[in-house]
Amino acid sequence: MTDLPDEHDTEDAATLAFYEREAVAYAARREAGAHAHLDRFIDRLSPGAAVLELGCGGGHEAQAMLEAGLRVTPTDGSPALAAEASARLGRPVKVMTFVQLREEKRYDAVWANACLLHAPADALPDILGRIWRALKPGGLLFASFKAGDGPGRDALGRYYNFPSRDGLEATFSMAAPWAELTIETGTGGGYDGVERTWLAAWAVAWPAEPLA
Ligand code: SAM
Repeated sequence: MTDLPDEHDTEDAATLAFYEREAVAYAARREAGAHAHLDRFIDRLSPGAAVLELGCGGGHEAQAMLEAGLRVTPTDGSPALAAEASARLGRPVKVMTFVQLREEKRYDAVWANACLLHAPADALPDILGRIWRALKPGGLLFASFKAGDGPGRDALGRYYNFPSRDGLEATFSMAAPWAELTIETGTGGGYDGVERTWLAAWAVAWPAEPLA
C-alpha cells in the first residue's frame, strides 16, 4: 500500500492511477438519473447557468445537468475517465486536476461530487480558494466527502481526506469567505461497497478575497 501524500503533494498519484486503470468499468457502472443532491443543485440555478464540474468521472451528472439546460464544463484529472465522459457526452472533456484550476469569476456554480475527497488534506484549503476564485460572487459550490477521523486509504488503495464534520467546516471557513456554508450528514456507499457517513457541503461565495 502506498504511503499517504506529504504536506507538499497537491494530488495523490496512486488514486489517479486507480481511476486510469478502472476507467472503463467505473464509467460503465453508473446509470444516469436521479440524484437528490444534484436535483437540489439544479433547482438552485437559473436556466443557462455556467457550471464547472470537477472530477466528473464517467460524465453521468454532466449529462443530467446538460439535459436540465445548464452550460456545463466537465473536467477530470484522469485522462481515461475524461475520455469515457467525452464519449458519453459527445463533447470534449478537459483533463484537469484540482490544482490546475486558475480561472477567475467565470462560473455561476461548481459541482464537485465525490471528488475533492481525494484531495490531500493539506492541499484542500488552496483548492477551495481556487474554486472560490473561479466562482462569480454569489456563486454556489456543492462538494461531497466521506467522513472520518483523518486521511487514509480504502481497500482499493484510493486516498481519502476523511474529515470530521467540524473539521470540514473549519477547512472551508479557513480557505475563503462564504456567505452561506451548510454541511449535511448522510449515509451512502461507494465503489468499494462500504457503507459510510457522507458530508455534503453547500457553500455560496462571498464577494471578498479568499484567505488561503
Ligand atoms: N464525480 C463523479 C461521480 O460522482 O460519479 C466521479 C467520482 S469518483 C469517486 C472521483 C473522481 O475524481 C474520479 O473521476 C477521479 O478521476 C477524479 N479525481 C481524483 N483525483 C483528482 C484530482 N486530483 N484532480 C481532478 N480529478 C481527480
